[in-house]
Amino acid sequence: LASDESRQSATPMMEQYIEIKANNPGSLLFYRMGDFYELFFEDAVDASRALGITLTKRGQHMGLDIPMCGVPVHAADDYLQKLISLGFRVAVCEQIEDPAEAKKRGSKSVVRRDVIRLVTPGTITEEKLLSPSESNYLMALARIKGGSEPAYAIAWIDISTGVFRLAETARERMLADILRIDPKELILADQLFHDPDLRPVMDVLGRTAVPQPQVLFDSATAENRLARYFDVSTLDGFGTFTRAEIAAAAAAVAYVEKTQIDARPPLGRPERESSASTLFIDPATRANLELARTLSGSRDGSLLKAIDRTVTGGGARLLAERLMSPLTDPDAINMRLDSVAWLMDATTLTDDLRDDLKHAPDMTRALSRLALGRGGPRDLGALRQGLQASRMIAARLEREILPPELLDAQNALQELPVDLAAELEAVLGEELPLLKRDGGFVRAGAIAELDEVRALRDQSRQVIAGLQLDYIEETGIKSLKIKYNNVLGYFIEVTAGNAGAMTDTNEGRARFIHRQTMANAMRFTTTELAELETKIANAADRALTMELDAFDKLTALVVSHAEAIKAAARALSVIDVSAGLATLAGEQGYCRPMVDDSNAFAIVAGRHPVVEQALRRQSAEPFVANDCDLSPPKGAKDGAIWLLTGPNMGGKSTFLRQAALIAIMAQMGSFVPAGSARIGVVDRLFSRVGASDDLARGRSTFMVEMVETAAILNQATERSLVILDEIGRGTATFDGLSIAWAAVEHLHEVNRCRGLFATHFHELTVLSEKLGRLSNATMKVREWKGEVIFLHEAGPGAADRSYGIQVARLAGLPAAVVARAKDVLARLEDTARKSPASQLIDDLPLFKVAAKQVEESRHAGPSKVEEALASLDLDDMTPREALEALYALKKEL
Ligand code: ADP
Repeated sequence: LASDESRQSATPMMEQYIEIKANNPGSLLFYRMGDFYELFFEDAVDASRALGITLTKRGQHMGLDIPMCGVPVHAADDYLQKLISLGFRVAVCEQIEDPAEAKKRGSKSVVRRDVIRLVTPGTITEEKLLSPSESNYLMALARIKGGSEPAYAIAWIDISTGVFRLAETARERMLADILRIDPKELILADQLFHDPDLRPVMDVLGRTAVPQPQVLFDSATAENRLARYFDVSTLDGFGTFTRAEIAAAAAAVAYVEKTQIDARPPLGRPERESSASTLFIDPATRANLELARTLSGSRDGSLLKAIDRTVTGGGARLLAERLMSPLTDPDAINMRLDSVAWLMDATTLTDDLRDDLKHAPDMTRALSRLALGRGGPRDLGALRQGLQASRMIAARLEREILPPELLDAQNALQELPVDLAAELEAVLGEELPLLKRDGGFVRAGAIAELDEVRALRDQSRQVIAGLQLDYIEETGIKSLKIKYNNVLGYFIEVTAGNAGAMTDTNEGRARFIHRQTMANAMRFTTTELAELETKIANAADRALTMELDAFDKLTALVVSHAEAIKAAARALSVIDVSAGLATLAGEQGYCRPMVDDSNAFAIVAGRHPVVEQALRRQSAEPFVANDCDLSPPKGAKDGAIWLLTGPNMGGKSTFLRQAALIAIMAQMGSFVPAGSARIGVVDRLFSRVGASDDLARGRSTFMVEMVETAAILNQATERSLVILDEIGRGTATFDGLSIAWAAVEHLHEVNRCRGLFATHFHELTVLSEKLGRLSNATMKVREWKGEVIFLHEAGPGAADRSYGIQVARLAGLPAAVVARAKDVLARLEDTARKSPASQLIDDLPLFKVAAKQVEESRHAGPSKVEEALASLDLDDMTPREALEALYALKKEL
């Protein structure tokens, strides 16, 4: 398209189009023409298909029709939303001069146009394009080479709220860190994007990852770029950052500049997040535990959905953020728990606060739109309402003795400038239009001059109403009407039958000027009417100018208080989250967990938060509460491991998951579904549960299971919590049993973590005899007249049988098959009794010993043969000498 030949053969407008298109590769170009954004060529084909709109053509280019489609400007947001959600990026190209200016340059001159903004998934601000309860992060990933290991960092920005954070990361934890923040768009240098080492990460991220030119990530200019954005001479005042962090932050900012072109979103200063302060949850665990989404991708059924009682968008976003990044510092966790506990005690106040919050709109996002010049009267309205709600909430909390977090929030609300709300209330009307150019949003009585102009306009309208009566009298046509439309302006309309009466006198002919003939009507105007119309139009113009002026002033005022508004919005979110969690705790009967620095993990009467609510909704049997104690046994320093056996459908998975979820909830600062819980903070949480099939990527279920297990055994520390469900199920019995056996030993002896290990290998239960911190637990069942009843109750001991055949019978396996299976089982069990696995415990050295032997053999030093071999200089030997040396070596063996 951009070839010389192509340009030369284009019309002047097409030439401009081609030029702009060439400058914005990779984006659909929305090319503004009057009231439409038009798309041409390939863009038109793609967009018409994606949006389901008609593909037409306009003119020719190099002998071929030019495909074209268009969307009306007023509905553009809806189309943008659809395109963005389908993974497209859009360059919005506007007319940047008055068409009259272009005409002055010559009749062939094209109106100047330019791209004013790139719309990408990570850089949107429009209310329609954003989900109220989700953050919208743009993330940059940077790598700095040098030193032995490359250094990685990530920076993430939500331009709809101004949040700007950064953190170091590492190759192994990169994906976990990215998924924790869950960006809508991740940018990285071309080279990095194509680096084979990062292929697995890019595969998971899919279209979210977008390669960008290397220059964006140039670390030499990074610091300057950041300093320039924040208008400071040095970044020293922001804290200390690594080179990789600065490169990532600068790239994110550069991308914001690149996509927003002229506009500058008001970003907060970059804040550093340290990985040590958040609970590390690896990607498989995050997915398997269905924290924010279920494995099938829906929000329903996730933990987040089950615990979300927030009533504001900001609150929902903060809750999600806390859930995705639970803390590890007991003091910080307890500070959050203090807020929840305090609000739980003050039930009436909490209800009132939540009522107030329901009326608090999203102030941060409205503020961002205003600062970007994309705001409308309703954004100002949102701030007015948000400030009112803030004032009410501050007043409610004023006389209370608050815990620290809520006190901070109350202070932030109190510090909002009073005159700001007053000014918005004084100027803005009640009903607000979406677009400022529609006018009518300034309250009557706010601006004296505007009131005068409006009166003039309204009077003229009344004069027109009077004119209609005059004309009816004059012409005797009762059905004569004065009407208005956008094309003709004001006009007189009579039915076709009456038209003659208008112009049958000389006087009439001079007075009523014919404008238009319709099928059933004729339209006329008069000089009087035209004059009045001009008057009205002038008045409306002047009124609008005054309103736009007032809008700009209010916007400037609001933006000048951006910091205070953002702090207040944040405070409202904190109150909303705490009040929501307090409400949840009251409604669901949760308890405050005791969180400390110990290695304890003692849950009494714990429940699964999601399953419990689901059972209650289905009004089925109630959820059976269970205890779980992984605290260090007497005399031990490290936590315990439970080996859980029990029949299928007995509740093992549920029990495992609930332990992990309770740890996460406690560390995010929420009450937990239990009678009581004491939790020594967990540094990393690992799980290998369920079958998250990865077959699509060509890895077998068993391979995935082993990869995940390997990650756990390599990374878990004595502060970690590990949850393993049915390791070794995917392979032959002896393989599986051996792997499970070795894994339990490794967890106990090497990782020394707290853990739950569910298995159907009953043979493993003998391990508890040798491993001091390992105990057996089982999900109880009762047998009744040959039927199994699952009690869902965990208790000490080992299951004596697996009841697989009973479950198979319940599932409807033919009776003959069930009977035969019983037969086979009896014989197998008989053989097994003759060579029980319990013998292994006496014959096999413990894992540590076995591992030590491997280790020792590795470090025993070279043998004589090895030494002799090493001393040979092969290049200096004849074939004969070599053969002799070989004989000599062989003798040594
Ligand atoms: P397993 O992992 O042992 O096969 P699951 O944990 O999948 O068993 O649970 C099987 C079924 O039992 C699930 O449908 C679950 O809803 C129900 N269940 C599990 N634990 C409980 C419990 N504590 N109370 C009530 N129902 C439970």
